[in-house]
Amino acid sequence: MTAKVIDDVKLDYSDVMLVPRCNPDGPASRQDVNLLARYMGKRLLENSAMTAVPIIAANMDGVGTIDMCRKLSEHNMLTALHKHHTVDELTKFYIDYPHIASYAIYSMGANQDDLVKYREFDMRLRTATIYNNIVCIDVANGYTKETADFIKSFRKQFGGTIIAGNVVTREGVRHLWEAGANVIKIGIGPGSVCTTRKLTGIGYPQFSAILECVKEADHILYNSKTYKKPLIIADGGITCPGDIAKGLAAGADYVMVGGLFAGHDEGGGKRVMTCAEDGTMKTTHMKFYGMASKAAQDKHNGGVAEYRASEGKEVYVPYRGSVNYTCREILGGLRSSCTLQGVSNIDTLKYGATFIKVNRQLNNVFGA
Ligand code: 5GP
Repeated sequence: MTAKVIDDVKLDYSDVMLVPRCNPDGPASRQDVNLLARYMGKRLLENSAMTAVPIIAANMDGVGTIDMCRKLSEHNMLTALHKHHTVDELTKFYIDYPHIASYAIYSMGANQDDLVKYREFDMRLRTATIYNNIVCIDVANGYTKETADFIKSFRKQFGGTIIAGNVVTREGVRHLWEAGANVIKIGIGPGSVCTTRKLTGIGYPQFSAILECVKEADHILYNSKTYKKPLIIADGGITCPGDIAKGLAAGADYVMVGGLFAGHDEGGGKRVMTCAEDGTMKTTHMKFYGMASKAAQDKHNGGVAEYRASEGKEVYVPYRGSVNYTCREILGGLRSSCTLQGVSNIDTLKYGATFIKVNRQLNNVFGA
C-alpha cells in the first residue's frame, strides 16, 4: 500500500481565533462568570460531587509537585502529580490534606514498577478511604497494544477514574476507550519542551487533534447504550491563557498545562542565582525540562537507555516568583473569554463557538 497525504491543512492554536458572540442572557461582567466545571473526581471524603476549574498542571518535574497542588487548589485548579514522588510522600499528603489532595491526580507509567508502587499506595489509602481515585496512566505512545492491555488489567484490579494517553486521532481515542480509559489525553509533540516531532517526524497540530478527538468522543456517546463517553484532556502547546480558552471552546473538557506553570517557587528545582546591586543573591531563572529529556532521564533513570533517544529539551525559564500571579492572569483571561463569548459558565464555552483561521494573531512590535 502506498502512503497517502491528507490534503486539508491541520491547525494549531496560533492558526485560529475565537469570534466574539452576542448573547442577551450572557454575563454582564467578568465577575459573573463561573469558572467551575463538574470534575471527573468525587470528594470521597464527603462522597460529594466536586467542581474545579478545568485546568490541570502537567505531571512534570518543576510543575506537578505537591506544593504546586497546594497553591493551585486555592484557585480550584487541578494538579497531576509527577510520578517520582515516593509512596510515603504521596500517602502523607493524601491522608493529612484530603481536601487539597482531592485536586491531585496520581500519575504513573505503564510498567511493572509503576504497578507495584501504585498497589502499595492504593493499599495504604484504601484503608484510609479518603482519596479521589483518579489515576493518570501516562505513556508517550498511547497506540500500543501493551498500553491497552495495561489499562484493561489496571481497570480490573483497581477500578476508579483512569486517564490515559497520549493520542491525537479518532482511532487513538477509540483504542484507549475500548481498553477502559474514562478520560483521554490528546497531544503528541505540541509541548514547550518536547522534541518528539523533530526526532520522529510524528505529531498532529494540537487544535485539529482536539476537534477530531472530541468528535470521536461524541460519536462514542451517540452509539453507546450506556450514554457514556470519554472526557478529553487537551495536553500541551498552551502558550498563553487565550490558548486555554481555545482548547476548551474546541470541546476539550480539561486543558493540561506544563511550561506556563514553570519557573515558579511551587515547582521547586534548580535555580540560577545572580548577585544583585545591593549584594543580595536573587533568582533570575529556573531549570525546566521535558520528562523524556536527557536531564530527566539522568535524574530518574540513571541516564538515557542505549536503545532510545532523548525526546525532550532542557531550558532555563525566567523566574516568576509564586504561581499566584500566573493563576490570576489565567483565570482573568478565561473570564474575559467567557464574557466575549457571551457565556456565564465555562462548561458552556464549547457550545456553538466559531473559530476563524488567521495568518497572524498577535502584534509583536513590543515583544511576543
Ligand atoms: P506544555 O504545556 O509545556 O506545552 O506541554 C506539557 C506537556 O508536554 C506534558 O503534559 C506532556 O504531555 C508533554 N511532555 C512533557 N515532557 C515531555 C518530553 O520530554 N517529551 C515530549 N515529547 N513531551 C513531553
